[in-house]
Order: sequence, then structure tokens, then C-alpha cells
Amino acid sequence: MPREVLHLLLELPGEADMQTLRAAGDAGGGALLGAFSQWSSDQGSGDLTSLPVEAFRELACGFFEWCGWGTTSVSTSSDTLIEVSITDCWEAQRREGSPSGCHLTTGLLHGFFAGLAGYELGVMELECAGLGSGGACRFVIGTPEMVDSIYAGLSAGGSYEEIVSPRD
Ligand SMILES: [Zn+2]
Repeated sequence: MPREVLHLLLELPGEADMQTLRAAGDAGGGALLGAFSQWSSDQGSGDLTSLPVEAFRELACGFFEWCGWGTTSVSTSSDTLIEVSITDCWEAQRREGSPSGCHLTTGLLHGFFAGLAGYELGVMELECAGLGSGGACRFVIGTPEMVDSIYAGLSAGGSYEEIVSPRD
């Protein structure tokens, strides 16, 4: 059950590094996906893999909010990228001191969406409320190559919107 998964994750030592947090999140992502399947069928949804994209997005948002993640939106700006935005993100809110981003959530999203897709995906947090963005925590999910190229573009000073929109 997801609340238990989150509870377990919250018991991690405060000094756990980014890799440890991501790995813990990734491991929990499979359990989260299992809970999502159960929750969806409790809601009367059919087979997840045959849901239209719009219905899937609504369902996934409802589930993440039910898990206590915060106000969540899931969007797809292209066929190959999923964007997840979390306002009042649970992980950003639990941090004190010097946060370095929502690594547990990044790992959870990886485990969840890669498990759902059945192939490897990359996940990156684009903006973090805990790092002073002031808004929502925003994540992007795509193939590892796409996420790598977004990372490279951002590192080179580009904006996410420029990087992912097709050039004229
Ligand atoms: Zn964050």
C-alpha cells in the first residue's frame, strides 16, 4: 500500500545521499504501481494499458494525490515525454536545512513509469519548490536518451520549453 511505502521511505536516515534516496524510491515504485493497479480497479477502471491517455492522466493524478503527494498534474507535451507537476510536494515540504531536490519522488516516478512502460526510462526533476523555485516541483519522464539531452540542454543554459519544442 502506498501510504506504507511512503512511511517506510520517511524512515530513511536524514543524511541519505541522492543515490540512496533514488534507489529507495525506485524500489518503492514497483509497490506503488501495484497499489495503483489495485486502486484503479477499486475505482472501477478497466485495464490500465488499454485506457485512453486522458483517462490515464486523470487516474494517475487522483492516485498520487490520494497517496498524499500534493496537488498533482500529469501532462504529455509530445508522444515521448511525460511531465509531472506537484504543488505542495510532500518531499519538498518534509525537508529542512539544505534540500537538494526530491530524489525519493524522482526514484518513485522512475520505478512507477518504467514498470508501467516495461522499458527503461529516465526521470529528472526540472524545478523544485524546495530549491526556491517558489512553484511546483516539476519532473520530466522520457527515454534515457531524451532525458540526457534535456539535461545537456539545460546545463548549456537553454530553457526546458525551448529544448522540447520542435524547432522551426
Ligand atoms: Zn522538489
